[in-house]
Amino acid sequence: MDIRDGFLDAIGNTPLIRLKRASEETGCAILGKAEFLNPGGSVKDRAALAMVRDAEAKGLLKPGGVIVEGTAGNTGIGLCLVGNALGYRTVIVMPETQSQEKKDMLRLIGADLRLVPALPYANPGNYVRYSETLAAELAKSEPNGVLWANQFDNTANRMGHFHTTGQEIWRQTDGKVDAFTCAVGTGGTLAGTGMALKEKNRDVKIVLADPMGSALYNHYAHGELKAEGTSITEGIGQGRITKNLLDAPIDDQLRITDEEALPLIFNLVKEEGLVLGGSSGINVMAAIKVARMLGPGHTVVTVLCDYGTRYQSKLFNPAFLRERDLPVPDWLG
Ligand code: PMP
Repeated sequence: MDIRDGFLDAIGNTPLIRLKRASEETGCAILGKAEFLNPGGSVKDRAALAMVRDAEAKGLLKPGGVIVEGTAGNTGIGLCLVGNALGYRTVIVMPETQSQEKKDMLRLIGADLRLVPALPYANPGNYVRYSETLAAELAKSEPNGVLWANQFDNTANRMGHFHTTGQEIWRQTDGKVDAFTCAVGTGGTLAGTGMALKEKNRDVKIVLADPMGSALYNHYAHGELKAEGTSITEGIGQGRITKNLLDAPIDDQLRITDEEALPLIFNLVKEEGLVLGGSSGINVMAAIKVARMLGPGHTVVTVLCDYGTRYQSKLFNPAFLRERDLPVPDWLG
């Protein structure tokens, strides 16, 4: 029998998918870890489960307790579903600029959703900062405990990827992996997976894929946390070195624009049947660039973070794209 025991057990062990055109054009194996197939629909199910299990082990969360988190959406969806499966309530703070589809999903699954204006981290009203204040407030009256998941600075997040994503990639490639690249929101995926692969083989190259509007590229390339430009991609980009990023084994860094990533997203729909969100496009573009740097015959792994329908009103909306002078899929135009 091959049975997964409920939602929690269905998280992880996702397939590694060979991306056809990217592999053919580079002469490399470009492999995408199909995180959109997690039961909550994104890579963040892994971090959600890891943070909740860690809190339980430390006695921070008791049955009937409350999970509070600031999130671009996917972590909130993961936490809420993990909470539903384990008997915890969830209060999710999210910037109002995030996609309608993620807000709808959070309401559908019963999260207590609090939308706040998109403000910089330095502002106490910022979604992450506000979620911390709210968690402290709720803790005063909550008998079963409140967990502020704190995905950005809670290293249980990257350890979840260290123990699962990294090991799976090593096993699935029989150790024949030359490079791993992905974008950063919290840094959990890049750091945790990177640490696991480096532990197996220190020659595996770990490459940051940074969207415009993020400060990390300049930090790793020039030692200066400075953002330039903007991106419509949700869930990635970072303005500070989170605890999950501290000492991450990053060998190289690439900056990827929306103009580069979007045509890839559209091609993957039409030519390969893969309907992916924006961060996956940034990741696949980075994998192609890494493959070109390494030359033919190498294996480059990246992450297909979530499903494209989660952004239908933006990424696959010709009016939204045209307003921003971004490429439009020809079959939608
Ligand atoms: N892609 C998407 C769609 C996400 O929601 C996130 C997490 N916010 C990421 C990528 C980045 O993952 P991580 O937080 O592990 O850096």
